[in-house]
This record gives sequence, C-alpha cells and structure tokens, in this order.
Amino acid sequence: REDVQVFDVVVIGAGPGGYVAAIRAAQLGLSVCCIDDWMKEGKAAPGGTCTNVGCIPSKALLATAALFEEIELKAGEHGIEVDCPAIDVAKMMARKDKIIRQTNDGILYLFKKNKITFLNGRGSFATADADGYLINVDAPAETKVMAKSVILATGSKPRALPNVPFDEDRILSNSGALALKKVPTTLGIIGAGVIGLEIGSIWKKFGADVKVLEAMPDLLTFADSSVTKEAKKIFEKQGLSMEFGVRIDHIEDNGERVSVSYTDKDGKKCEMWVERLLISIGRVPFTASLDAPVVGLKLDERGFVEVDKECRTNLPNVWAIGDLVRGPMLAHKAEEEGVAVAERIAGRKAFVHLERVPSVIYTEPEIAWVGKTEDELKKAGREYKVGQFPFMANGRARAVGETQGFVKMLADAQTDEILGVHIIGPQAGELIGQACEALAFGATAEDLSLICEPHPSFSEALKEAALAVNKEAINF
Ligand code: FAD
Repeated sequence: REDVQVFDVVVIGAGPGGYVAAIRAAQLGLSVCCIDDWMKEGKAAPGGTCTNVGCIPSKALLATAALFEEIELKAGEHGIEVDCPAIDVAKMMARKDKIIRQTNDGILYLFKKNKITFLNGRGSFATADADGYLINVDAPAETKVMAKSVILATGSKPRALPNVPFDEDRILSNSGALALKKVPTTLGIIGAGVIGLEIGSIWKKFGADVKVLEAMPDLLTFADSSVTKEAKKIFEKQGLSMEFGVRIDHIEDNGERVSVSYTDKDGKKCEMWVERLLISIGRVPFTASLDAPVVGLKLDERGFVEVDKECRTNLPNVWAIGDLVRGPMLAHKAEEEGVAVAERIAGRKAFVHLERVPSVIYTEPEIAWVGKTEDELKKAGREYKVGQFPFMANGRARAVGETQGFVKMLADAQTDEILGVHIIGPQAGELIGQACEALAFGATAEDLSLICEPHPSFSEALKEAALAVNKEAINF
C-alpha cells in the first residue's frame, strides 16, 4: 500500500479530547496522526469547540464583561472616578480572536514538538481489515492513513430546535452569540443551562436586556438545590429575567426581529420579541462525518458512540472519547479520557472517575461543584453531615467586595469522608480544584480542617466549611 501512510494510532478530531490523546500517545513512543477539519481564515485551527467557539472565547469575553462591570459599577465605591465607560465590540472580539489563534498555534506547536503528523481535513472510515483501519482524509490533499488503533474524538454540535436553523445572525448558537458585532438591545435565550447562562451574563453586563426561557421547572436542576436557590436569588437581583416550565410553540424571524411564541408554566400563551435569539438547549454528539456505518460502529439510542467504562467501542482497537460518548460534556473530561485511552493503547493501566469530574459555571458569582449533591445522597439513603460557610464571613471576600454565596461540604456521617463540595461565590472555579484533590485522596472533612491556609484567602472558606461539617467553624 504505497499511497497509504501507516501509524500506530490515528486520532480523528483535535478538540481537547483528541489533541491531548495524540500528545500522550506520542509521548509513550507511538507513531501518531491527528486529523482535524477546523479551519479559520485559511489556516488550521485545532482545539475543537473548546478553543474556537466554547470554553476559551466565552471566558475571554466574560473577562472583558467582568472588567466593564467593575469599572461601571464598582470603581466609584473604591474612590476611582471614571466617566461613563463604553465598549468597543470590534476591539473586544479582536482580543478574543487573538487568544483563540494563540491557542490554535500552541496546539500546532505541540504537535510538531511531539512529532505528530497533523492533517487539516475531514477523516472518515474507508475499510477495516486485519492490518487495521484505513481512513480517508479529504484535505489538504486526498490522503489515506492507516492504523491499528483509532481514537474517535469528533465532539458535539449545538442542538437546534426543529425547523429553526441557526443563521448565526439573528438566530444564534454559541458560535454566533460569541461573535456578535454589536451589543443587542434585547437578547432572548432558550435554555438556562451552563452555556445560556454564561453567554447571557456576558451580554447583560454590556447592557443587553436578557430574557431566558427554560423548559425545566427550575434552574440548573442537576446542581445542589441550595446552590441553585442562591443562584436564582442572585441572578434575579442582577435583573436577569428567567421563566421556567415554558413550552416553545413557534419561532418567527421577520427579518428585523425574532418572535418567540410560548406557553408559560400556567398554560398562558405568551410572546417574546427580541433582536437576537440564542438557542442553547444542549449539544448532540457529532458522528455524521465519520462514515461510521462503513465499519459498523455502534451508536446508542441518543446518537452517542457506545463505549464501555474504558472508552472501547464495539470495534476492536477503536476508542471514542469526549463529547462523543456518555458522561458530562466538558473539556477536562474529554482530556482525561484522551490520556487514559492513549495509556491503554500503550499497554498501561488507566482510570477516569466520571463521578469526580468537576463542573463550573463561569457566571458572576461563579458556581462550581464536585461529587454528590444532597439530593443524590438522600436518594441513595446515605447518612451525611453538612457544613456550610458564607463568603460574607471571609476576610478576602469582604476586602474585594465579593461576599455573595457560600461553600457547602457534604461528608459521610460515620467516616467523615468528603462526598461532595458545592460552591457559589468568588473564584469558585479555582477553589473547586482543592475539593477535587480532597475527593481524589479520599480526604475527610477533618483532614481539610487541619490544613493551614493562607490568610486572607478564599481557600479559608473551604477550610471553614470543612470545620462546619463537624460544627467547629471559627468565623461563623
Ligand atoms: P470538540 O471540542 O467538539 O472537538 C472535536 C473536533 O473534531 C472539532 O475540531 C471538529 O471540527 C473535529 N471533527 C469532527 N468530525 C471530524 C472529522 N470527521 N474529521 C476531522 N475532524 C473532525 N467545557 C468545559 O470544560 N469548560 C468550559 O468552560 C466550557 N465552556 C463551553 C462554552 C461553550 C459556549 C460551549 C459550546 C462549550 C463549552 N464547554 C466547556 C464544553 C467543551 O467545549 C466540550 O466539552 C469539549 O470541547 C469537548 O471536546 P471534544 O474533544 O470531545 O470535542
């Protein structure tokens, strides 16, 4: 097969799952080809959803929005006099695009450094035989590659409402909503999930009138209910309009504005007119481009690639990771699975504990959690203790003026082992890292309460919550 390049491993998709898997496989001495079709302005743009239209651009815009709000609302309190601030959206977007490009180029550099062959095109299955899998790559030139092991990491796409295609101008997915050319006067959001809340909070800080419609009866039903209650209270106080238990009946774009007809929780017919509409009702695994039926790859009833605990598909030596398979659709989960699969291919043992994958919502305040919620423990009939500590009682939080929220810790009633940590408040997304470590090491609440934390720091709130588990909090 002269026209075929042969590798130990071919990875299809260079999102956080795929590119990380490729690097680890190469580090372990395997020859690796990684194929990804994302391209921007004629240049390869590896990094997937996360880098191009997800984690990185949303956090870049959130940083600008938070700074804008600080200047607008808080500077005066600090005695800093600022004339009415204004946002230059084009400049903000250029900054975001520069950060994305740095990340794309960083991944291309890492491919080179690790001697990974990177092909910027669409990869699809051609054949499978005893030698392995033959993969067609449609660009840059028609190429064929072959490998004994294949890692599928083609990620996910935004779910659309039936008969309401995204035009990314007025009817937006995350891609369009993170690339608007001006601040919309009104932004409607269907879906109060993580993406809807984060993007809504960006445009709201710049003055958009944001209204969120959600089908579920309450906010973030998968999070701990005391955090959800606090979040709802804070978001409503910030002026975010949210309606729950709604059914969307019809969406119409009249060329200038979008109308959303819906039935509210009491059965009343309502209509909402907005300049832009973000539809953020979840994401669906993306397998369409793989020509998976050629080799008989099995999908589950929801379209995810069916895998076992170790990310093995029904095909020998074909693995699938990240948003393409069951479990939380999060970049760090994809990365962990990528590393674990590469290690398994190289003959090492690896394990990803899906129950210990942390979640973060980068709103203000941030929300983060890891492990079990109180409801889950109740359902499982597990006896537990609760410790809660408010940021109002934390010196650092008062010093920076971010006193909303709390740290809540759940521990086993008998053994004191930490079972879950739920945070709403400043730097929750950073603090949760300490909770992940505690869970990974099987720490007890007492263990955390014996650690000397710097003062004044948000970390002290975590320690105080651990002390509160055993009714020994000092500052509350
Ligand atoms: P993806 O990142 O989707 O990458 C898949 C890649 O494969 C893409 O480049 C795609 O073009 C390519 N591809 C598809 N088919 C083919 C083919 N046949 N051939 C070649 N290439 C192909 N997660 C977090 O953990 N933290 C966050 O803060 C966060 N924020 C988010 C914000 C938004 C707005 C969105 C939309 C998502 C966010 N996520 C976040 C989720 C995160 O982006 C995903 O969980 C993550 O990107 C999944 O990684 P992946 O590698 O499975 O797939």
